[in-house]
Amino acid sequence: MVKSKFVYLKCSRCGKRFRGATRTEALEKLRKHLWKEHRDWMIARIKAGIRKAKKKAGNPRIIGFLEAPLIEKITGRPYEEVKAQVLDAFVRLLLSGISRP
Ligand SMILES: [Zn+2]
Repeated sequence: MVKSKFVYLKCSRCGKRFRGATRTEALEKLRKHLWKEHRDWMIARIKAGIRKAKKKAGNPRIIGFLEAPLIEKITGRPYEEVKAQVLDAFVRLLLSGISRP
């Protein structure tokens, strides 16, 4: 029995088959076909992927390793206010290293 030396991939949208000497080659052909024939679907898929990645990145309300609720609990003040002050202090610290008033 002779083994086929080609790799076959099927388009999940229209069922068209693509042949490549390697999986990479077949994938490349499929990718080109997807962009040509199913462009809108590809764009929708990429957008969904970005949304997923953003969700995974998690809560951006963090100063260092301190989470917003913890900061509010410690300081008894709104997180945004504390964050602004921390940033101000940090900027002053940076500037004071360059030029003193
Ligand atoms: Zn297709």
